Amino acid sequence: MATLFTKIIAREIPAEIVYENEHVVAFKDIAPQAPVHIVIVPRQEISGLASLPETGDHLAILNAAKTIAEQFGLTSGYRLVINQGEDAGQSVPHLHAHLLGGRTLSWPPG
Ligand code: 5GP
Repeated sequence: MATLFTKIIAREIPAEIVYENEHVVAFKDIAPQAPVHIVIVPRQEISGLASLPETGDHLAILNAAKTIAEQFGLTSGYRLVINQGEDAGQSVPHLHAHLLGGRTLSWPPG
């Protein structure tokens, strides 16, 4: 089943794509929670961390996050978040990481 993010990857739904390679596509979140809020999505459709295969496009998320953080000049810090399931507030059933930066981030998250 095609998710919203599959459609963004296929350019069927517009998004401000800031980075992509053969494994991931990254775009600005439509409801940013920080001055920089980028969603990094593996091209492979995986519903979430709970159904992670041993190998695949998701392995490229960390390196993409590092590259995008450099691209946005986040030299004083940033955070990478993956929400899994209902309790964590996952709203799109296609694995994705949130890259948040550009402000001081409180801890622990809510
Ligand atoms: P989740 O809540 O599943 O961890 O994260 C989903 C994220 O996708 C949310 O932060 C939400 O704002 C973002 N989002 C939902 N719909 C769209 C959309 O159509 N375009 C973009 N760019 N982001 C979206």
